[in-house]
Amino acid sequence: MRSDLCSIPVEEVFAPREGCPLCRMRAMLEERVLTYIMGAAMMEPDVRIQTNRQGFCFDHLKKMLNRRNRLSVALMLESHLTELDRRVFGQGKPFFLKPSAGAGGRSAERAGETCFVCEQIETGMSQLVRNTMVLYENDRAFRELFAGQPQFCLPHYSLLAAAAEKQLSKKYRARCLEDLTRVTRAALEELHGDVKHFCDMFDYRNNGPDADWGNARDALERAARMLTARDPETE
Ligand SMILES: [Zn+2]
Ligand SMILES: [Zn+2]
Repeated sequence: MRSDLCSIPVEEVFAPREGCPLCRMRAMLEERVLTYIMGAAMMEPDVRIQTNRQGFCFDHLKKMLNRRNRLSVALMLESHLTELDRRVFGQGKPFFLKPSAGAGGRSAERAGETCFVCEQIETGMSQLVRNTMVLYENDRAFRELFAGQPQFCLPHYSLLAAAAEKQLSKKYRARCLEDLTRVTRAALEELHGDVKHFCDMFDYRNNGPDADWGNARDALERAARMLTARDPETE
């Protein structure tokens, strides 16, 4: 991955104290990678070798098709399809190197599973999570910002906990894990209450026009975000 793609200042991502900061980080990375790949980068030979090999998952193909520059998508797909024809059916290879139908089938199956954009996002996230831990270890103001987050979604709780275990010194490891647990548990508890409230609203006694939904209206969308780190409303 080009280093400027993930040159996102971690403090800025944490500063808004709204939702899961790593979900915001992932969304920023995704936007950057999509803009990058739909722009001039797509013509760079080393990038094209990678997109030919990895292709794109359904989610990212869909996002690319919704953008303006359809010629970029067409050019990348054209050479990716050439590569697939070679890999799955042995097109252009001597007969003794052609894959069997079984091996070709397995290559075909993998075609929708590997994705250039997903891999770039994952590499970027690993780098940014490492940066987050460096800040936690060395910057007091950042430790306070970290502890004051309203939530970490479950996938990102797990990512941060693993990084804290691995990267932090003994002095800060327990404290960071405590912050993570406190913030995530409180968010989960509140969400659980809202989902329960949502269920209760279907009781006939809550059918009146002045029924009090409290914070329950979008509880299911928030639950989807908490469980998957993805946004069902914008994706
Ligand atoms: Zn998240
Ligand atoms: Zn993808």
